[in-house]
Amino acid sequence: KNFKDYNLSDEILKSVDLLGYKNLTKVQEETLPIILKGKDLVVKSQTGSGKTAAFAVPICESIYWDERSPQALVIVPTRELAMQVREEFFNIGRFKRLKIVEVYGKAPYGRQERELKERAHVVVGTPGRIIDHLERGNLRVDKIKYLVLDESDEMLNMGFLEQVENIIEKLPEERVNLLFSATMPEDIEELSKKYMNNPSYIEI
Ligand code: AMP
Repeated sequence: KNFKDYNLSDEILKSVDLLGYKNLTKVQEETLPIILKGKDLVVKSQTGSGKTAAFAVPICESIYWDERSPQALVIVPTRELAMQVREEFFNIGRFKRLKIVEVYGKAPYGRQERELKERAHVVVGTPGRIIDHLERGNLRVDKIKYLVLDESDEMLNMGFLEQVENIIEKLPEERVNLLFSATMPEDIEELSKKYMNNPSYIEI
């Protein structure tokens, strides 16, 4: 299927066209309709499958530009992934002029703090630094309507479970939860049962 077959706005279609994406990848074809409906979703899929755009397209589509507080929070295990995910969101949201802010450790607070306090539609970050910004009052989460846990198995392998749970517990109850993972060990299943609302499961 082609991105044009979905009910997406011209701004989003223009940006995927500029990226050279025409046909959806398998994971995108499976997940896009579910995410567009606002359902919770657990996806078992490898990197390189186009999973970032699978969540960035529907999230960018449904973000309101006028709202200044972050509407989507993407938690990732590493700084490198944060940068990649931010870039994909930036590219997909560019014609909607969406502001995507990345926050990760071992980098100065000043710039991240300024960006968070200006308009920020999507925040992508690693668990420790997200908590730091929450505690410093830089990051508002009361308007969050999407939570994405990306490379969740990696995140738990790195010992981030407690921090991830700590963040999730501060989010509004009414939100869409999307969990991506290359493998599905028991702790990931537990995490999804604990925090997600009757999720669909997709394995690519
Ligand atoms: P990811 O799995 O998100 O790391 O994406 C892997 C690569 O696939 C990235 O370089 C994307 O730019 C690219 N990609 C994502 N979606 C599509 C698509 N529908 N058509 C072609 N390339 C894509």
